[in-house]
Amino acid sequence: MSDETLSNLLREERRFPPPPELAAAANVTSEVYQRAAADRPAFWAQQARRLSWATEPKQTVDWSNPPFAKWFADGELNVAYNCVDRHVEAGLGDRVALHFEGEPGDTRDLTYAQLKDEVCKAANALTGLGVEKGDRVAIYLPMIPEAVISMLACARIGAPHSVVFGGFSAEALATRIDDADARVVITADGGWRRGKPSALKPAVDEALTRPGAGRVRSVLVVRRTGQDVAWHEGRDVWWHEVVEAQSAEHEPQAFGAEHPLFILYTSGTTGKPKGILHTCGGYLTQVSYTHHAVFDLKPETDVYWCSADIGWVTGHSYIVYGPLSNGATQVIYEGTPDTPHQGRWWEIIGKHRVSLFYTAPTAIRTCMKWGEEIPARFDLSSLRVLGSVGEPINPEAWMWYRKNIGGDRCPIVDTWWQTETGGMMISPLPGVTATKPGSAQTPLPGIAATVVDDEGREVPNGSGGYLVLTEPWPGMLRTIWGDDQRYLDTYWSRFQGRYFAGDGAKKDDDGDIWLLGRVDDVMLVSGHNISTTEVESALVSHPKVAEAAVVGATDPTTGQAIVAFVILRGSAQDSDELTAELRDHVAKALGPIAKPKRILTVAELPKTRSGKIMRRLLRDVAENRELGDVTTLTDSTVMDLIQTKLPTASSED
Ligand code: ATP
Ligand code: MG
Repeated sequence: MSDETLSNLLREERRFPPPPELAAAANVTSEVYQRAAADRPAFWAQQARRLSWATEPKQTVDWSNPPFAKWFADGELNVAYNCVDRHVEAGLGDRVALHFEGEPGDTRDLTYAQLKDEVCKAANALTGLGVEKGDRVAIYLPMIPEAVISMLACARIGAPHSVVFGGFSAEALATRIDDADARVVITADGGWRRGKPSALKPAVDEALTRPGAGRVRSVLVVRRTGQDVAWHEGRDVWWHEVVEAQSAEHEPQAFGAEHPLFILYTSGTTGKPKGILHTCGGYLTQVSYTHHAVFDLKPETDVYWCSADIGWVTGHSYIVYGPLSNGATQVIYEGTPDTPHQGRWWEIIGKHRVSLFYTAPTAIRTCMKWGEEIPARFDLSSLRVLGSVGEPINPEAWMWYRKNIGGDRCPIVDTWWQTETGGMMISPLPGVTATKPGSAQTPLPGIAATVVDDEGREVPNGSGGYLVLTEPWPGMLRTIWGDDQRYLDTYWSRFQGRYFAGDGAKKDDDGDIWLLGRVDDVMLVSGHNISTTEVESALVSHPKVAEAAVVGATDPTTGQAIVAFVILRGSAQDSDELTAELRDHVAKALGPIAKPKRILTVAELPKTRSGKIMRRLLRDVAENRELGDVTTLTDSTVMDLIQTKLPTASSED
């Protein structure tokens, strides 16, 4: 990316120093960065002591065969024991682990002691179904306590799980079952979504008729909605019959630190999902430490809530493994944020006095669209730290989050990481960092990241390029399941000896890192590299725009031309004057080169099931191509609507 373009892009002058009380009592202080950088393996070895090991590791990182890392390889532990049993043994059995809120309004609290019993019963049930150490189990469940219990039960018996998001189709489920060669599937009759029962079991039944997925022996079915289900005698069993009949005693066995913990497929924002493999010891060390450090978790007093689904890595690392290994009390919620009303989330925060809240920019922009009067009706005074993950957060959305949810008092941690990294990598620390709206800022202690140019040279401050990770880290993926070559090609071939994340980034004058979106999305306009993220942020900074997606479409004169798709806020009306105004607004913020050639107002944007904008599909439309892989798209009618809109596009110069 060319420096001159980046240097005139969005400048953010505001800084928000940490609240003094929070800083004074923070879990992590600024001296940690230096200590960690001086000896990274020693730093992570120290963090590994956060866990209970059956055999303490003497080794730290083994990087003798890069990029195939081993961490703490001679150590042995049981991940479920670390997330549940040890808290009960420490006398915390009565602490609530999960406050479950069902969408219809039903609730269920599980203490650590109760969670332990449920996990043991489920572990016994899986063993009874013939699941052995190393066997893969697919989990296709709504956001109910059984999802957490199932994951921990698998971890407990050393059977790697592959969680598939409950919104995926039978086809997507079948390919994931096939790829991981799972022999048992855990599902439910359905879950509650937008006030209605939404079936899951039929998708499993259909998936299992496909070649490849036909090797599944057993389907364990949770009764959640009570809807009718087709039943395959000899294959299907009810959770409430099989699991409930088990003993709550189960001796956890210790597994090597490098034993596989789970396979998880990426969101599919850029293409076909990849089966990312994570192992036990290093992964748990990193998610435990980062959850403690980045949320400043005080397990005795905090109530934590991550709104992600268990089907994404955020749900794995920051609902299940990080928080539970730290003995946190947390909320899990089954449904959508607008059922039965658009204040449902804020109502839940008030009810449980949630103090730490973690969500995604897409959700924040949706709430912006609904209007700030909605959160204003609820008591959000318990909040103390807010987190963001999944996409770059536009400065405007960051400010909205800070003001309307955080009461202008809570630090925001914008956490950059990926399914592949296992845990958070770049983020402010709430008691240390003076935060900047829109920037993830600093690699966490023990993490080494930088921005390089095309030739792999580190760029100076004030310049942009490619985000790379320069040292192995404990939670890193070990490979792509069954495809070491794809692992090498995807992440390790672009820059010698460095992990290439696939994201563009810049370093500002202070050396803080700003994420600029996928490198595949970067536009080349008249010889200038322009990041989609920055044009989108400029659009979202206009008071009438709630959300924007920008792509570069082939153009005979400029190489690529900027095409923007925008969703307007609440009452704003589409007009030629408004599109002209928006184009000028972008030109003023970023310079005339970044002015979109066309702006189309749309009702919805194509998103992955995890809520991320799928620019590659918009690029296909803008260039009149057939759409690429749409299996991870939430709603295919969105693309039809957008396609009908295109030929009538106005506002060209
Ligand atoms: P696929 O790899 O299949 O295309 P995906 O990259 O969307 O899917 P995830 O692992 O869920 O799958 O997402 C990781 C990506 O999300 C990062 O590479 C980055 O592009 C984006 N991301 C996550 N957190 C942030 C953040 N705080 N700021 C900017 N971007 C982020
Ligand atoms: Mg990715």
